[in-house]
Amino acid sequence: VTRLAVCGARGRMGRAVARLAAASDDLQLVAGIDRSTIDAVAAEFPRIVGMADAAGVLAEVDVVVDFSTPAAVRELCERHAAALVGRALVTGTTGLDEAAEELLGSLAERTAVLAAANFSVGVNLLTAVVQRVASVLGAERYDCEIVEAHHGRKLDAPSGTALALAAAAAAGRDIPLAHVRRDGRSGETGARPAGEIGLHSVRGGGVAGDHAVLFLGERETVELRHRALDRALFADGALTAARWIRGRPPGRYTMAGVLGLE
Ligand code: NAD
Repeated sequence: VTRLAVCGARGRMGRAVARLAAASDDLQLVAGIDRSTIDAVAAEFPRIVGMADAAGVLAEVDVVVDFSTPAAVRELCERHAAALVGRALVTGTTGLDEAAEELLGSLAERTAVLAAANFSVGVNLLTAVVQRVASVLGAERYDCEIVEAHHGRKLDAPSGTALALAAAAAAGRDIPLAHVRRDGRSGETGARPAGEIGLHSVRGGGVAGDHAVLFLGERETVELRHRALDRALFADGALTAARWIRGRPPGRYTMAGVLGLE
């Protein structure tokens, strides 16, 4: 049995993870972790503790599954680095800043860490496909644009998945994403420079996650599209990662690795 704690327990994803874990015989949900100020009751969890009091919970688990905020990830890595040694961290939190990325990097020297912008098989496969398509449909003749849609409660834009898809397209064209990334357009933009990779975010309704990668040529358009029908898709993938990472040595792991796509 893999023993789990869920950070961001009161959130949409935290609760989805808890529901699936409770229905799995090989997983034991020990507790949830959330902001210390939050009302510590949730039907999905045997108990919820505040981040400040999480060390005791961490001592009882094999894997922490995190879907929270960049600030929470920083707090988890800073405050609980010692308690995380000998366990593993699976995080799906997106919009991570440089500080959070660095903290995950140093944590991985002592703990197994997997950070993924998307836990679905479809998106991880699509990412590899996009890299290949972008290399064949090159920047001179095909303009690459990515359109993503999510529910209106999402806190970051563009989505972590859109950024991963854009990075894959840039990699297929042998250029760092930072050199060609363009977030949205407005006003007197001028003509579109060749090679630009555009990112566009739609927000509203109950959309769990839609991503379309467009390659626009003069005489043809290629569209690659993924639609998540339910956020249980991501929760299920995160639990697959949790089962897989349990007991692994310290280091950084990827969802593509878990899924055998590397
Ligand atoms: P949400 O807002 O519903 O939940 C976030 C939870 O984190 C809340 O319960 C909040 O109280 C808690 N939190 C905030 N600050 C905290 C702190 N300092 N310490 C502990 N807990 C804290 O958000 P959500 O829709 O569940 O998404 C959470 C994250 O997961 C987002 O970054 C989102 O983009 C990402 N996400 C990733 C995937 C994926 O496949 N990788 C899929 C869906 C969502």
